[in-house]
Amino acid sequence: MNIRVILLFFIVSAATASTKLFVLGTGTPNPNPERMGSSYLVLANDEPYLFDFGTGVIRRIAAFSPSWGGDYKALEVENIKHAFLTHIHSDHTLGLADLIITPWIMGRSDPLKIYGPKGAKNMHTNIIEAYQPDIDYRIYGTQPQNNTGYNVIFTELKDRFIFEDKNIKITAFLNDHGDLQESYGFFIETADKKILISGDTAKSKNLISYGKDLDYLIHEIYSQKGFNNKTPDWQKYHKAHHTGPKDVAEIANLLKPKNLILSHILFWGSSEQEILDEVKTFYSGTVIVAEDGMVFD
Ligand SMILES: [Zn+2]
Ligand SMILES: [Zn+2]
Repeated sequence: MNIRVILLFFIVSAATASTKLFVLGTGTPNPNPERMGSSYLVLANDEPYLFDFGTGVIRRIAAFSPSWGGDYKALEVENIKHAFLTHIHSDHTLGLADLIITPWIMGRSDPLKIYGPKGAKNMHTNIIEAYQPDIDYRIYGTQPQNNTGYNVIFTELKDRFIFEDKNIKITAFLNDHGDLQESYGFFIETADKKILISGDTAKSKNLISYGKDLDYLIHEIYSQKGFNNKTPDWQKYHKAHHTGPKDVAEIANLLKPKNLILSHILFWGSSEQEILDEVKTFYSGTVIVAEDGMVFD
């Protein structure tokens, strides 16, 4: 290798080493047209890793791909081969049929690998069964189509499950989503970034134990003002399943992430500024109210 080749090698390595975080869906079960169902994507060494797949997930990924005017060739939807699921709630999984079928139609031939909690397996097997006539039509009709890329290889998560390849290390941990036992967050490590996705959770000790030296802490939140207007039975439910601004601030004060990203926001009539102010009352670090389509690197 001459010096120019070596230099070029390092420049290319540096360019591909930069991890990117794509915010695809920041919504909740409420059908806000500007906020799709929960979904994030981490691009590490140009390999995409998807976290949750709420409504709109494939359209949101496609928007970043050159086929639809975006800048990221790696985000052509047929490249989506790894998906991690926090829990089976509909706002995190309604895009599953789209995730199985559309990238396959667009050319994916590898099976989709899904890492999810107990119960998620039923979802993909039943979706494939429901779509079998459509799948058969595409494979056995006149449409040239591979007969492999709609398949799913499922791995069941447990606390401290680790996925690791040459690009990324992902640790699943149980969080505290009220009476839903099978609910996880993800701690993601790449060559240059540490990212934690809270999943849906009340204040979680397990989450806190994974949160050192984070570049990005993506945490769910509800509006305190909205919470105060709820009836006592709804307050009890939400306090056990989700996190209020004071608790989010407390977690951030403990973990001191470089960036706190608020997402999966239960606004209940509050504005983004009000949510931000509620957190800022107790926390002075960098806070970002997530919006669909944001990219962080
Ligand atoms: Zn949710
Ligand atoms: Zn949930």
